[in-house]
Amino acid sequence: MLANLRELTLPLVGVFVAAKGRVSIVVERCKACGFCVEFCPTKVLALSSAFNSKGYHPPHVVSPEKCSGCDLCGMYCPDFAIYGHKLQAPKAEATAEAKEVNNEG
Ligand code: SF4
Ligand code: SF4
Repeated sequence: MLANLRELTLPLVGVFVAAKGRVSIVVERCKACGFCVEFCPTKVLALSSAFNSKGYHPPHVVSPEKCSGCDLCGMYCPDFAIYGHKLQAPKAEATAEAKEVNNEG
């Protein structure tokens, strides 16, 4: 709970995980309409029990590994308080190069 409160006092919360996407929340812009929570297709988000400085409950990330980076949350947010983006997969050439090196050794 304390960790959640500390996170929500930050102006921008980012979550880095081994997922296809990442979602960032600008906590102080949020008015807790819940659209992002409702429309996220993989249920990454939930409204927090903590408050921002305006007295709203902003969303927080409950399942970061499920984020695809589709940015539906960002498209539905009327306050530009959340956005998602896709993470780049490791480059194919780099992977092939690594395999070659392993085969030579
Ligand atoms: S980017 Fe897509 S999958 Fe990720 S939290 Fe937003 S709506 Fe959900
Ligand atoms: S859609 Fe935007 S304003 Fe509404 S709860 Fe989500 S982040 Fe907050």
